[in-house]
Amino acid sequence: MNILVINSGSTSMKFQIFDMKTKRTLCKGLVERIGIDGAVSFQADKNEEISINTSIPDHKTAIDIALKQVTAPKTGVLDSLSEINAVGHRIVHGGSTLTKPELITSEVEKKIEDNVGLAPLHNPAGLLGIRAVRELLPDIPHTVSFDTAYYSGMEKEAYLYALDYGCYENWGYRKFGFHGASHQYVNIRAAKLCGAHRDDFRAVSCHIGGGVSLAASIGCVGVDTSVGYGTVCGVPMGTRSGDVDPEIILQLIMREGMTPEEVKELIYKKSGLLGISGISSDIRDIISSSRTGNERAVLALNIFSRSIRRYVCALAASLRGRMDALIFTAGIGENSSLIRQMICDGLEVLGIELDKNLNENSRGEAIISAADSRVKVLTLPTDEELMIAMETNMLVNQQ
Ligand code: ADP
Repeated sequence: MNILVINSGSTSMKFQIFDMKTKRTLCKGLVERIGIDGAVSFQADKNEEISINTSIPDHKTAIDIALKQVTAPKTGVLDSLSEINAVGHRIVHGGSTLTKPELITSEVEKKIEDNVGLAPLHNPAGLLGIRAVRELLPDIPHTVSFDTAYYSGMEKEAYLYALDYGCYENWGYRKFGFHGASHQYVNIRAAKLCGAHRDDFRAVSCHIGGGVSLAASIGCVGVDTSVGYGTVCGVPMGTRSGDVDPEIILQLIMREGMTPEEVKELIYKKSGLLGISGISSDIRDIISSSRTGNERAVLALNIFSRSIRRYVCALAASLRGRMDALIFTAGIGENSSLIRQMICDGLEVLGIELDKNLNENSRGEAIISAADSRVKVLTLPTDEELMIAMETNMLVNQQ
């Protein structure tokens, strides 16, 4: 069974083909600058990456060019497109109506369209991808996985805000939770590495990349999250503020005279690591400035790690009395031993003890806690695409 996974953005499309027998990637690629000037990169297993610059006016052309690479005589990985058995698509927001992976039908497409308002930047791009790929590969099953669906374990008391109940009843304001495929994948892998039963594994996972979200999971299902209705709250991110007292937002508009659009720009684009450090949204730049004594760089790292530490504690409270693991993943979580160390300093309160040496020297999937740490600490590369392929495989095999 070969599964094509599509992750579509407004001007980009990532694709990857998995052989589900071995769970190996046969090839992967990225089509960028769709509707601008177009650029494609493609890599077949173990081969050198190929780069092509060509005009790519829309998503249909993007997938057409991608699939031509897949079946190219010398550099491709398949003889014909009929060797693709199913396609798995990623959509960020399923809202309250799409809470599990689905086989795509016109009814499901309509529901995704109804949820466009919940993720105005992401969902329309995902839909463009679905329509384009379905048109080119109409005879095989297409499925869709939703980032928000992982949090089907969140109870009402976890997802409701303590606003007037009408805000939820009339308009649907509630918490959702994001990076679902990533949290699901690392929880499943962590349970395996810890030799634990997946169905009762209890962990807090920290997806720390350009965007940051933490999830509390029981049995590899999300029961609580650091993010909320949107993706700006929780801990500070590259350019996003994380939690801010809503009174400040009101004052910025009412007293300082900022427009809602300016406040949006402030909290999404000019805050977080960039806002505090004044240097960069990339933590590598901030770490190197902190080493030469830049005070705002040091402050940014301290605020960032302190906020994540506080959320680890908050989410541990949603694990119903037992925490098996703390998991770090994504660009920063996987790669920065310094940030992991800074977050864990103080988490002894939860029975978390890092092994300094393992933390600094482990690469890939690893347990990095001390032998007598009550809670295991792991660093794990995430694989959202493989998670989606696994869900597609399951759905198609159920038919
Ligand atoms: P996203 O997909 O959310 O953009 P990623 O998971 O790719 O993010 O993470 C991107 C971030 O990871 C970058 O902002 C960078 O700060 C960080 N990062 C990548 N490599 C390293 C590294 N070796 N050490 C520290 N941070 C890193």
